[in-house]
Amino acid sequence: MATRKKLKKEVYLFIGLIIVIVGGVIFGINKFKEYQYHKTNEYKLLNLGYSNDEVDFLLDLNDDEIINYVLSQEKNSKIINILNEKYFLTKNFNLYIEYMNNNKDLSSSEIVRNINIHLDKNFYEDTEKANTTLDTTLLVNKHYLLDKDYIPDDLVNVSQNYAWGEVGSQKVREVAYNAFLDMWNAANEEGYYLMINSSYRSYEDQEIVYNNYKNSSGERFADSIAARPGSSEHQTGLALDIFSKTNTNKNTFSQTDEAKWLKENAHNFGFILRYPEDKVDITGYSFESWHYRYVGKDIATYIYENDITYEEYYAYFLED
Ligand SMILES: [Zn+2]
Repeated sequence: MATRKKLKKEVYLFIGLIIVIVGGVIFGINKFKEYQYHKTNEYKLLNLGYSNDEVDFLLDLNDDEIINYVLSQEKNSKIINILNEKYFLTKNFNLYIEYMNNNKDLSSSEIVRNINIHLDKNFYEDTEKANTTLDTTLLVNKHYLLDKDYIPDDLVNVSQNYAWGEVGSQKVREVAYNAFLDMWNAANEEGYYLMINSSYRSYEDQEIVYNNYKNSSGERFADSIAARPGSSEHQTGLALDIFSKTNTNKNTFSQTDEAKWLKENAHNFGFILRYPEDKVDITGYSFESWHYRYVGKDIATYIYENDITYEEYYAYFLED
């Protein structure tokens, strides 16, 4: 009897030992898993206070540089907003952050836009060369300037039927001229008669115009009224100042039916209203209801439908 009892006791002890070992192993595995989980970005981001959705969004970016930056900072939902911006560019991430920290009152869309199109700088500050290899989609403005010797090689004369001035005084690049003629005909069918007031202007032409203002009234005034040489879109041969046969007045043209027709239809022919009324701070130009730029139908339509400037389109879709 005693031996059986002793045997039973040993079995119980053995089973108990197994239970302790198995339990220990399971406990250990769980602790190890927890330890491993605490090392994950998911855990660290949740621990910083980001929501599950925000964490999923950040992890889906799959960008170590961005995640490491976010982890190095206190929780800041503005960073998430910036990352979510439609025109967010990964290459500009560090610039967005620096600009955000120096401009706390700006929204995430303003931060992304301003950095993308160099509005963190003043006009004419740290200018760059315009990329003429982009042909009809090049951008010329107060940041991207053309050289003195840039002259398009396919300029054609605008017929006197559609332009003021002496014969041969109005020139435009052929591709833009053909598009203009299509637009002219479409407008004419609706009873409008469009007339070109200004087209290609050489670097020297612009230099004369700008320097006249500068010499008489100073640089500040000159900059408010004319583009500096090299920064005028008219040097591309792709910009046209379009008025009507009955109105060439810069102050009142915007009120005419022709101006309204152009605004609503020009994109169908590849032209954009380059300096809109509500984009003055972005373009650096006062509203010019007459100044149209040829960029091609697809781009013009995108810009028209998304209500953005050419600066914004260029930065996101065309610039390296
Ligand atoms: Zn113009």
